[in-house]
Amino acid sequence: EQAFAAGQKWAWHNEEVDQAIGQKHNLLMELDRSIEDGKLVVVYQPKWDLSAQALDGAEALVRWSHPDRGLISPEIFIPLLEQAGRIDQLTYLVLRRALNDLGAWDKRRPGLTCSVNISAKLLSDSSFVDQAIAMVKAAAVSNGQVVFEVTETATLADPDASLLALRQIRKAGIGISIDDYGTGQSTISYLQRLPIGEIKLDKSFVQSMVTDKSNQVIVKSTIAMAHELGLKIVAEGIEDQQTMDLLMQYGCDIGQGWHISKPVSSEIFTAVWLDSVAEEQRLSA
Ligand code: C2E
Ligand code: MG
Ligand code: MG
Ligand code: MG
Repeated sequence: EQAFAAGQKWAWHNEEVDQAIGQKHNLLMELDRSIEDGKLVVVYQPKWDLSAQALDGAEALVRWSHPDRGLISPEIFIPLLEQAGRIDQLTYLVLRRALNDLGAWDKRRPGLTCSVNISAKLLSDSSFVDQAIAMVKAAAVSNGQVVFEVTETATLADPDASLLALRQIRKAGIGISIDDYGTGQSTISYLQRLPIGEIKLDKSFVQSMVTDKSNQVIVKSTIAMAHELGLKIVAEGIEDQQTMDLLMQYGCDIGQGWHISKPVSSEIFTAVWLDSVAEEQRLSA
């Protein structure tokens, strides 16, 4: 069903393709409306300090509660927004919420950190970088409490612009973490030249490390290497106690995963994780 059309090189007359494009378009329109109406939900997954055995903070993760389709995963709608060049609006929304919530947590428990995911492409958007920094500076939080998580592909796609942006971000007192480390192409020695403070080991290595010996070796040596280079290391995807024990044995700094907690609303995070009584009960359990 391919056909030449006058004035066009190729035209597709394929119903399935038309339908898929139409659906994508509809989804994007609905998403725009949800962003405008502030209808996206931000949940928080606790980050647990494995050496101090204390709460370090949380990572903000976005959810889209669609009126008919239910909860839609960010893994579906984030790429849509990125392709459409409209990821900045969503990121402002998540950052604004995260800064608000962190400000409220800080009154009960000073010094917690909050990580926000920043899409690759946004690092080469100087107006985004300027505005995001201004938002953090205007918030009632201290240096180092806000962390931007960026994937390593971000820094490779446009190295010059990214490096400039990362330096600016770091200078503003915002921490930088390399997300999903190990899934991309970059070496730790390349990353070490960037102004980062932390790498986040991808869950694909962590989830199976108890049974998969080669992943265990990768995790153990990455932790050692990160430390040699003066970087903190976070493990995501901790699903059981055995994994947590191994990570502690290897000296991993921070852990995240379902075994510690699934992502929860700010209200639940506050009630369960910031209440010192609840914490004592949890620790002695
Ligand atoms: P990520 O930043 O690597 O986040 C970790 C993902 O692993 C989250 O999925 C989290 O819910 C999930 N996870 C946490 N612990 C466990 C565990 O023990 N086991 C397993 N199997 N999974 C675990 P989520 O929330 O679906 O987010 C997926 C990705 O979407 C994130 O990966 C991040 O790249 C992106 N994302 C989420 N929120 C935002 C956002 O506000 N902005 C941008 N640009 N991207 C976002
Ligand atoms: Mg992340
Ligand atoms: Mg990750
Ligand atoms: Mg990921």
